[in-house]
Amino acid sequence: MPGGTPQTLRPFLWRAANLYPDREVVARTAGGITRYDYGEMADRTARLAGALDDAGLVGERVGTFCWNHHRHFETYFGAPGVGAQLHTINPLLPDEHIQYIVEDAADGLLFVDPSLAEKLASAYDPDAFTSVEQFVVMGESVPEIPFGPVTDYESFIEGYATDYDWPSLSGDRPAGLCYTSGTTGKPKGVEYTQRMLWAHTMALQTPQGIPVADDDVVMPVVPMFHVNAWGMPYAMTAGGAKHVYPGPAPEPADLAALIEEEGVTLAAGVPTVWIGLLEYVEDNDIDLSTLDRLVVGGAAAPRSLFEGFDRHGVDLVHAWGMTETSPVGTVAHLKSDLEDADAETRIEKRLTQGLVVPGLEFRVVDDEGTEVPWDGEAFGELLVRGPWVTTEYFARPDASEESFEGDWLRTGDIVTVDGDGYVKVVDRTKDVVKSGGEWISSQELENTVMTHEDVIEAAVIGVPHERWQERPVAVVVPAEGADLETLAAECADLVRAEYPDWWVPDDFLRIEEIPRTATGKFDKKRLRERFGADAVEGEAPAEAAPEAAE
Ligand code: ADP
Repeated sequence: MPGGTPQTLRPFLWRAANLYPDREVVARTAGGITRYDYGEMADRTARLAGALDDAGLVGERVGTFCWNHHRHFETYFGAPGVGAQLHTINPLLPDEHIQYIVEDAADGLLFVDPSLAEKLASAYDPDAFTSVEQFVVMGESVPEIPFGPVTDYESFIEGYATDYDWPSLSGDRPAGLCYTSGTTGKPKGVEYTQRMLWAHTMALQTPQGIPVADDDVVMPVVPMFHVNAWGMPYAMTAGGAKHVYPGPAPEPADLAALIEEEGVTLAAGVPTVWIGLLEYVEDNDIDLSTLDRLVVGGAAAPRSLFEGFDRHGVDLVHAWGMTETSPVGTVAHLKSDLEDADAETRIEKRLTQGLVVPGLEFRVVDDEGTEVPWDGEAFGELLVRGPWVTTEYFARPDASEESFEGDWLRTGDIVTVDGDGYVKVVDRTKDVVKSGGEWISSQELENTVMTHEDVIEAAVIGVPHERWQERPVAVVVPAEGADLETLAAECADLVRAEYPDWWVPDDFLRIEEIPRTATGKFDKKRLRERFGADAVEGEAPAEAAPEAAE
């Protein structure tokens, strides 16, 4: 029958091990730098596969509670390769979410880092963890863990053959599982099949994705518990690149050292990571000459970050994605006909979330479900579909119903699309401020307010308002010694310079620190709880609405 073999991860590992047996895999660990090659990696992964198979985990879920390192990478191929499902757990989540996730996934085995053993012990609940028959510590020694049975990783894989007979698997076989952080309600599981991971890897490898070549040295700083580190470890293996894993909680100094010492050419992480690195690089004498490009995503990257890395000759590439989209959906490459455009146009395009990667389709709809024009102005919710976009949540028909329309995923992101097809995220559906029937982008207001030099951070929330339904309020962390009243007036002017008057926040409130979620995003739910109803008194400004609501 025509059609070829199913799309699975196995050929990526096979190719790397056979074409690039000497290519290095490097990891920063508590004990220093660990270094081996693809040949050894493939042997150890085969031994891990033998151990998982022997432990009866084929067809089961295998959890990891780990940072980014070589052993975690071995599970990326070892678990899916035997026909198990790799469930990466975010150790930064609150205990009750971890309990919920482990119980929901019914993990049969948990890999845990020594440095995270205490956190796991705090989250451990015998009633939620009933499915877990074994804990494997990702190191040579086993710290005190008040539950068991526990073994160390090296003993777990010891004695197994390096020529494991990898099974032929269907492309539909569940290979991965990751829960979204659940800023609203309970965490929701997203399953990745072998085919989804294969398709996502191949899309990353196109010039319109985040392609990785065999002379690249790639450092995923984005955690491996977060949507497979954006799929980078699979793309790096497919491309035959050198891997550099930054280990537990890397500081900017650690990242800079790895870049210099290992010759990193490409790295991926959230904006805060690159903001920290840029500051460090500007204050210290760091050689970034090998670094060619940095991928940034997970939240909108500010303009100053693009300009900062431009000064160092590093191309910051903006990408957008979600747990539900495996995750990469758009990447802000410049279209060839924009390469000669003026500097402002080029940076404006790079600042958007980018162009949809080949293989996906999207549409943008307003409140009534009508498609909005691609004019860079009209707002609407982004819907996407494609081979690596999920069409349901794991065991949650209730949540699936509200998030999908047939095979279209409702992303919950409010975007504009310009005439060139660049998608720009302006807000989340749950954060956008609805004033007098019109939408105000909380993110755009935040970005504008944060350009004031005396504003360290700012978040904008919608608070209930009798006349306008909702009005924006800015919660700011002022610089030391700044006068809030003066700051508020100056920020209001900044907003007025760019947006209509009715976008100006009704109030500017002081906060010590903006609360964040486990994935590092502003926790607006908590802000709304704290500042919600009492924040705005009286009427909105006279010109506070377009077409004056009534
Ligand atoms: P969660 O939805 O639980 O926060 P995800 O990691 O799945 O976790 O987050 C996906 C969301 O992150 C997207 O829907 C979008 O709102 C935001 N996001 C991702 N990348 C970007 C980006 N480059 N710019 C702006 N927002 C982004």
